[in-house]
Amino acid sequence: MSSEQQPAIVHEPAEIDWDRPGKHHYQVAFPLDGSWGYSLVPLTVINGRRGRSADNVLVVGGTHGNEWEGQVAVAGLCRDLDPDQLAGRVVLIPRLSESACAANSRWSPLDGVNMNRAFPGEPAGSVSYRIAHFVTSSVFPVVRVVVDIHSGGRDTRFPHVASFHPVADLPQRREMAEVATLFDTAFVMIYSSDMASGLLTDEAEAAGKITIGTEFGYGESVDRRGVQHGYEGVRNVLRHYRLLAEPVVRIDPERAAPARFIEAATLDGYLPAPRDGVWEPLIDPGDDVRAGQVVGRLHDFSSQVSSPLPIHAPRDGVVLMLHYPAVTTKGQTLFSVGQEVPF
Ligand SMILES: [Zn+2]
Repeated sequence: MSSEQQPAIVHEPAEIDWDRPGKHHYQVAFPLDGSWGYSLVPLTVINGRRGRSADNVLVVGGTHGNEWEGQVAVAGLCRDLDPDQLAGRVVLIPRLSESACAANSRWSPLDGVNMNRAFPGEPAGSVSYRIAHFVTSSVFPVVRVVVDIHSGGRDTRFPHVASFHPVADLPQRREMAEVATLFDTAFVMIYSSDMASGLLTDEAEAAGKITIGTEFGYGESVDRRGVQHGYEGVRNVLRHYRLLAEPVVRIDPERAAPARFIEAATLDGYLPAPRDGVWEPLIDPGDDVRAGQVVGRLHDFSSQVSSPLPIHAPRDGVVLMLHYPAVTTKGQTLFSVGQEVPF
């Protein structure tokens, strides 16, 4: 079946056939809360004709609407993946918070909700909670591996990273670390579960899924190399689990070193701005820093002679997350510093 097949609009999860061989495009209709209309969430189900697999894969983009690499990469996979070459099941959702994507926003304009704080969702909640509930109750059960592709939006700069939380289950953690390297980024980020809850990845990890997040760009742009890491990284996941019968490929062949695993698992590695100001970073994401090093300055332009406030690294480590906007308010995280840990 060609990728130009028009998506079927479905109103109930039971109308989605998770087992039908071939590639089938849907738009899942979620009624709006305040008017006669729907959020139509795109969803593609591919069941490979080469056989079944125990390692079925879900890939999500557009959980945050102003992060574009995932939307571009996952939509490309919807068009390009060929069921004749696949085994197992691949489920693709290129624009999960479809209304936020349409608005280039981190939050849905329909209910003001950040989709990545709405999990596990609520069947009787506002539209974002109902979409999250659909993912938790209908999509997670039909896959084993979950990839959620993010970027820094307008808030944060990252180097390209694959990421996961420090889950307690060691076999799950080991497998997630291995899958994270398939995106062939210079860094793998192990990030704190304490900064926020209600993430898609929280729920997938709790359900025992092999769960990978990513950060593939920033600034509400489309990062060319970020799209490559997303698109080819997902294909590497399919190769790794033998859903595609071909070897894993390098995505950044010019980088000789293997991925460095950087863990910032506790909140004391995430530094808040001590006051309002204009943030001038003096390092780049991915830089090594030493304890006490000045990593940036907060300017106060109330007079041209007022001195900026230097911001110091609290410890040795690697800065992955770096505040992006110049204009900064007290309490916003300026950067995180993590420690290199063994694979
Ligand atoms: Zn995001």
